[in-house]
Amino acid sequence: MPVIEDGRLDWTLRVPDAHRLAVGVLLAWAHVEETRPGRLKPCGNPDCRRFPLDRSKPNSARWCSMAECGNRMKARRHYQRVKDSPA
Ligand SMILES: [Zn+2]
Repeated sequence: MPVIEDGRLDWTLRVPDAHRLAVGVLLAWAHVEETRPGRLKPCGNPDCRRFPLDRSKPNSARWCSMAECGNRMKARRHYQRVKDSPA
């Protein structure tokens, strides 16, 4: 909106707070895509449809959530090992 200040006409950008938040989220997303390409990858659990954002330094996170999918996949592998090993 135009603001007259010291006899000069000034334009001030006024964004409602709700919009500013949305813009902030968009910018944050773009920032992630720019600075961390390839960091967004599907979860290692084939039953899971989530795409975890890998925040680990070596880019080695495999699951969206260690507590959920991580433990589930570990348990599955363990079960497979036990089943395959000769009794
Ligand atoms: Zn998952």
